[in-house]
Amino acid sequence: MLNYLQKINQKVCFICSANYSGSTLLGFILGSHQNCFYSGEFNKKDTNYSIIKRSCKFCGVNCPVWKDIIVTDCVDIYEQLSIKTQKTIVINSTKDISWVEEQIATLQKTSSRLYFIFLQRDGRAVINSRIGKYPQEDVKEVINTWKERISKIQELYHKFKGKKIKLHYENLATNTESVTRTLCDFLEIDYQPQMLQYYQHEHHPLGGNNGTQFLVAKAQNKDLQRLLLNIQECNRDYYQNRGLEINLDLRWRQEIDPNVERLFEEMAGKENEEFKWNM
Ligand SMILES: [Zn+2]
Repeated sequence: MLNYLQKINQKVCFICSANYSGSTLLGFILGSHQNCFYSGEFNKKDTNYSIIKRSCKFCGVNCPVWKDIIVTDCVDIYEQLSIKTQKTIVINSTKDISWVEEQIATLQKTSSRLYFIFLQRDGRAVINSRIGKYPQEDVKEVINTWKERISKIQELYHKFKGKKIKLHYENLATNTESVTRTLCDFLEIDYQPQMLQYYQHEHHPLGGNNGTQFLVAKAQNKDLQRLLLNIQECNRDYYQNRGLEINLDLRWRQEIDPNVERLFEEMAGKENEEFKWNM
């Protein structure tokens, strides 16, 4: 007998991280597996966000995936996405941790299996990116925001009942193939070499890093101008001139103000122990 309650969506994987930690790259890699759909920052679909923010970064408002997705408490959005894309696994990289917590609580009542990747990046790199983008912000506040985020994610990671794994962005960017294999084992899917050519595949992300998305758009001859304008001016040359290969972005080491680094060490050195990358 047919089981009409059988869902198409089988798994949901949350990538939780601070901003500027490589979640867009990781999402693209996982989203290039034939059974995975990378949704990006899913919470942006919420009507509190502007129509631009609620739209696919590549296609805009007419995205073939997102334009028909309905957000209400009574319809399972993951199931809608799986039906629409015919992919059984949805990868979600939403940054709002309270929102993720609510999603987990709702999903636990369904048959979808839950996975949690805690993506970590050296906090010094993260705050350097933030200060570069918003130079008017108070540095102490930037450091405190990072600390709060990290502690919220640690807490959720600790409580999370499904399968979970911690991963360094720096390790992903240097040992991409072996890390991707590990993640495939973790998600209980086969490793597909095409995942490393993430820029050749179709993606429909909400939110996420403009630079990484620009590289995908460049590889696929999409409308570059719009995406380029989203990238802060000081980073445009970097993304325009670099190739598509995955490489570890350590620009922060040259860029960071020694006073900022000292202050960070003082305020968040302990919390950064687990995240530190000295290679
Ligand atoms: Zn799209």
